[in-house]
Amino acid sequence: MGTLGFKCRCGELAGELRPVEPRDYTHVVCHCADCRSHYTHLGLADPEKVGIVQTSQDRVHITKGGENLRVFRLSPKGALRWYATCCDTPLFYTPAASPRMTHVGVMTDAVTESVKPVEVRGYVPAGDGKVTHEGVARMGRAMLGRMAAANLSGRWRDSPFFEDGAPAVPPQVLTREERAAALMGVRA
Ligand SMILES: [Zn+2]
Ligand SMILES: [Zn+2]
Repeated sequence: MGTLGFKCRCGELAGELRPVEPRDYTHVVCHCADCRSHYTHLGLADPEKVGIVQTSQDRVHITKGGENLRVFRLSPKGALRWYATCCDTPLFYTPAASPRMTHVGVMTDAVTESVKPVEVRGYVPAGDGKVTHEGVARMGRAMLGRMAAANLSGRWRDSPFFEDGAPAVPPQVLTREERAAALMGVRA
């Protein structure tokens, strides 16, 4: 059974992605401002691009320090951006709408094993303010396939991020000022 470990920078919060064979996740690099602001809002340097291991939430098992898990969103409808409050490490993002979406992105920075090569690139700067994407259709198909499988099997209920249909930790919605500050830390 394939397992990938993850942990925050200080090691207080740790866990495993399992079962994860290479087909069970997609390795993405995203250059978008929202992904990068996950870091800048937590006081970290702009990473310029963010590595993300995309899989389904039932594969995420927090084995230690779960009480340090916190979540914010850039706007009232924004994705949920989860982090470890012990050392302000960005860890995951999930859609906010419903636990049945099952999608989760795990920051590659937090994964303790080597993962397969990057398959998808999003929002890659292409000059003149334009961006390009690579492999996004494939990413969408993989995401929908995982969502369908988790819904059919009932595995969608095994999420550490939702309880009774609501986020397991109440999300902090950034104020307009906090959002501006987070995005200001992201270089165009
Ligand atoms: Zn920590
Ligand atoms: Zn992004």
